Amino acid sequence: MLSIEQAGQIDPWLGQTLPCACGKTHSVSIRKAVIERGALAELPRYAQERDYRDLLLVADRRTLEVAGRELLQLCEAAGLKADLCVLTDDEHGEIAADERVIVQLLLKVTPPVQAIVAVGSGTIHDVVRFVAHKTDRAFFSVPTAPSVDGFASVGAPLIVGGFKQTIPACAPEAIFADLTLLAKSPRPMIAAGFGDMLGKYTSLADWQLGRVLFDEPYCELAVEMTRQGLALCVDNAEEIAAGSELGMRKLMEGLTLSGISMLLVGHSRPASGGEHHLSHYWEMRFIQERRRALLHGAKVGAAAVKMAELYEAVAALSPEAAAAAIAARQASGDVLTPARMREQIRAGYGSIADQVLAENGLSGDAGAAEPQELQELPQRIIERWDAVRAVCGSVPPPAQLAEALRRVGGPTTAAELGVEPELLQDSLRYAMYVRNRYTIIRLHQWL
Ligand SMILES: [Zn+2]
Ligand SMILES: [Zn+2]
Repeated sequence: MLSIEQAGQIDPWLGQTLPCACGKTHSVSIRKAVIERGALAELPRYAQERDYRDLLLVADRRTLEVAGRELLQLCEAAGLKADLCVLTDDEHGEIAADERVIVQLLLKVTPPVQAIVAVGSGTIHDVVRFVAHKTDRAFFSVPTAPSVDGFASVGAPLIVGGFKQTIPACAPEAIFADLTLLAKSPRPMIAAGFGDMLGKYTSLADWQLGRVLFDEPYCELAVEMTRQGLALCVDNAEEIAAGSELGMRKLMEGLTLSGISMLLVGHSRPASGGEHHLSHYWEMRFIQERRRALLHGAKVGAAAVKMAELYEAVAALSPEAAAAAIAARQASGDVLTPARMREQIRAGYGSIADQVLAENGLSGDAGAAEPQELQELPQRIIERWDAVRAVCGSVPPPAQLAEALRRVGGPTTAAELGVEPELLQDSLRYAMYVRNRYTIIRLHQWL
């Protein structure tokens, strides 16, 4: 059994299947992670070692120039057969992970192709992750910017029929993150990767709320791994802000550790809480309004500051104050009954409300009784207030998160991000329904 002391390292976990103190057996399907200067040149060597002789490199017009052509040459020089698939931009001059590009890639996956290589950012990874999984090909990752923790993950968030859903796919077999490339990536993408990591302060606290209030399964190892990944980023914020190779190494290691922690537990709980729900809600509304997408990590960073505000407000409440706030809500009837939740979901989600109702277990009979758990929750919050408060007090103050983001050059508020006050208000009301998962947004409804 590997020990929790190794939680801050990547290599010990690669290719491992191991029993954990949480009672589950975890396995990490990633076999290799190279985070170095010149990592690109390692890819053909690894492919040869694994006897993959026919590769398909997937890029867009930007990442083709940044890394795609160079990788193609490296593969050809090594005697491998490699073909390029250059995904074409949409009307915003971007790539979205939707049906259009999925089909474009599928058409290039000919029978001899053995491995598909994502050369680019998170979106290209998600498209390749899905197609490699569906066509049963190996999947390699070449990140061209340290912008998200999703390179290593299993789920592919795809936009299907205008609705974003995370479809189970596979993690990459190997990751080749070239520090020279990453150091050249655009500043906003570096800041976005940092923002995605800062969101772990609030996602980890949200998981703890789930444990305290609902006895939700919890894995100390996954938590520790995410924490250490976060610490690598926060402790090296100056280097990351400067875009140095050291900074890129630490950020990429942090993102990879966060990805591995999700692989360990088989879900995104350690890495995604209320801050991600807020971000997803904004994204969904942007898609509905046909607006240009914002960077995932930029949204998550600003949303984490907002979540830290909620945590701060809740942590300030004494047990008496919390009990009084809950009693006042109950007396005035201002509580979220299933009927009221259904109403809110219909108001907040428009054409995709049915999917969101299903996610929240609310698609059934509107007259059905309130679940036992909901009835007991207010009392439980009061009874367990000390533990709840301790979790809330563990989140750094919002000003500290905002300062860290500012240092790296990321937006710190919804306004700086370009999210209007009305949308922010809507999201604070409706975003908790994005996932049926307990977060500070849900707790805050009582207080
Ligand atoms: Zn994220
Ligand atoms: Zn575990």
